[in-house]
Amino acid sequence: MSIANTPQALLGMKPEEIAAVFAELGQPAFRAKQLVEWVFAKRAASFDEMTNLPKATREALATRFVTRSMQIAKVTGSADTTRKFLLKLHDGRYVETVLIPANPALYGGKSDRRTLCVSSQVGCAYDCKFCASGLAGFTRNLTAGEIVEQIVQVEAHAGERVDNLVFMGMGEPLANYSNVTKAIEILNADWGIGIGARHMTVSTSGLAPQIKKLADFPLQIRLAISLHGATDEVREKIMPVNRKHNLAELFEALEDWNARRKQFLTFEFILIENINDSLDQARVLAKRARGVNAKVNLIPYNTVEGLPWVRPSEPQQDAFLDVLTKAGVTATLRREKGHDIAAACGQLRLKQETELGIIESPIPAKRITIGAGG
Ligand code: SAH
Repeated sequence: MSIANTPQALLGMKPEEIAAVFAELGQPAFRAKQLVEWVFAKRAASFDEMTNLPKATREALATRFVTRSMQIAKVTGSADTTRKFLLKLHDGRYVETVLIPANPALYGGKSDRRTLCVSSQVGCAYDCKFCASGLAGFTRNLTAGEIVEQIVQVEAHAGERVDNLVFMGMGEPLANYSNVTKAIEILNADWGIGIGARHMTVSTSGLAPQIKKLADFPLQIRLAISLHGATDEVREKIMPVNRKHNLAELFEALEDWNARRKQFLTFEFILIENINDSLDQARVLAKRARGVNAKVNLIPYNTVEGLPWVRPSEPQQDAFLDVLTKAGVTATLRREKGHDIAAACGQLRLKQETELGIIESPIPAKRITIGAGG
């Protein structure tokens, strides 16, 4: 089924778009409001539930729209730990979404917060050398409806509300700008899902022009930068995107962000042994973080099957953190949740499709040969 003739997902539509449909159907405006309530506030999973809409209207809607477009294919983990959801999309593709309970260290969250790590694309085109998400390349953008539905599906399954969202699943959110920002508007709206803008974090590999564009976005969302290298020399080795937008360009965009936004920036910095974990890197990182008033999340590298990188020893991790802290930078060393079920950052990929017998090998041969020198 191509995207063009796929029924449209109501979860990706704003009230004005729904109102236009009702006007076209010759239906009174209050019916559109009723539908918006069913779709978002009541999270109706089928048209049958929408009992205050005339049957003929429901039938007319069902020919053009869907209430759900994906299915939960598999859940890994248990109720009180990190749970990974494998979601099957309407076209047979898969994405993963991770529910992380009680996550006090992350992004200033309260300890009872339920964070959902959502995907923004099927695959990823950016080819970061340490990350599992791009191993099978880029397939397609997710629609706004598919992004919103990840939250709705997980909430229904878990029986609880998600109150913190991070765009740190599969994909580069700023390369899918219009769908991601539309989804954020729907997720934030009172008529929509109702998650506070300050509880949503967009994470980017550093698309400077889109960061500048996002600075004009009216909602006060948070921005995280996957930095992973404090100098061009180191960053370029592991993040090809740095050749397109180098650190000078990235930091110009971050200064611009700071001049126009209230929310602090966050730097994510994966520690990879002998690649970016030297104390020299730590010193340059501290200077850069201070320059744009960013907090730093250090993430000990999570093993990705088929990739050669290793996480530094704990004393080395602590020494790196110490340099930042002594330089007056707010920094945390993130002890990952979900490592054992491959649900931690950068471990999200289509491995489960292999387990389900859907694709043969998740790791193209070219990637197995990458040496530690980059
Ligand atoms: N493309 C966006 C969104 C994905 S976020 C971005 O790059 O920010 C996924 C986060 O997990 C990023 O910070 C990424 O750099 C990090 N990550 C990727 N692979 C990892 C690994 N093997 N171990 C730990 N973190 C990893």
